[in-house]
Amino acid sequence: MKKLEIIDLHVEVNGTEIIKGVTLTFLPGKVHALMGPNGSGKSTLANAIMGHPKYKITKGRIMLDGKDITKEKANVRAKEGIFLSFQYPAEITGVTISNFLRTAVNNKREKKLSIIDFHNLLKEKMAELKMDPSFNKRYLNAGFSGGEKKRAEILQLAMLEPKYALLDETDSGLDIDSIKIVAEGIEKVRKQKAMGIILITHYQRILEYLTPDEVSILYKGKIIQQGGKELAKKIESEGFEGIIKK
Ligand code: ADP
Ligand code: MG
Repeated sequence: MKKLEIIDLHVEVNGTEIIKGVTLTFLPGKVHALMGPNGSGKSTLANAIMGHPKYKITKGRIMLDGKDITKEKANVRAKEGIFLSFQYPAEITGVTISNFLRTAVNNKREKKLSIIDFHNLLKEKMAELKMDPSFNKRYLNAGFSGGEKKRAEILQLAMLEPKYALLDETDSGLDIDSIKIVAEGIEKVRKQKAMGIILITHYQRILEYLTPDEVSILYKGKIIQQGGKELAKKIESEGFEGIIKK
């Protein structure tokens, strides 16, 4: 069965155990919200799933559609269909969105796209996401507003078509209008490609526009509660405190 599974995962950063035995299943075409207060280990877990070398898996396994990828490097995991967006994307001076995406897309493909085919694909995806055609000429993340950074991220998703996308705090720093646009964009790619979306957030705001199929709460490196979309609602009304006390 197709799924991204993490089984009893333990992760260390600089010799400190941050993730302390997490088991989760992410399904294609579903939205799984991973919530928890700041410092719970959400970004650590995402980086470990992506294979960032600083995040050491000391125990447990990661299975991608039945294949053990625990020991694979990040570039292999990316090729196999895992995508991680960054909570704080860096500026890349002198690289346009278009050049960045062409490199990223071709890295993933056996058969490289010609420049013309790439631009046609990019144009099509940007139109679908209602993006201004001049956007791809901008330098990646240079002087981007919070909303623009996140839209660039969604364009990456649409172009790379990963099987499972880990979106880390995609809603942070966005006003409601931008959240709606980003949520719509995610929803579009999810539906088209049956992409599994792992939405990492400590707010429930974006979940009003992007209904989660499942919600898991991470706290101090462990999953302390799981449920459906009503769990996110509960957090909105009671805060994390209500759940943590129990
Ligand atoms: P969240 O994303 O839920 O806010 P993080 O995964 O960023 O939580 O952080 C969890 C804990 O791990 C924090 O105590 C943080 O200080 C620590 N941590 C995360 N990444 C690093 C790192 N690269 N170096 C040192 N400590 C880290
Ligand atoms: Mg984080």
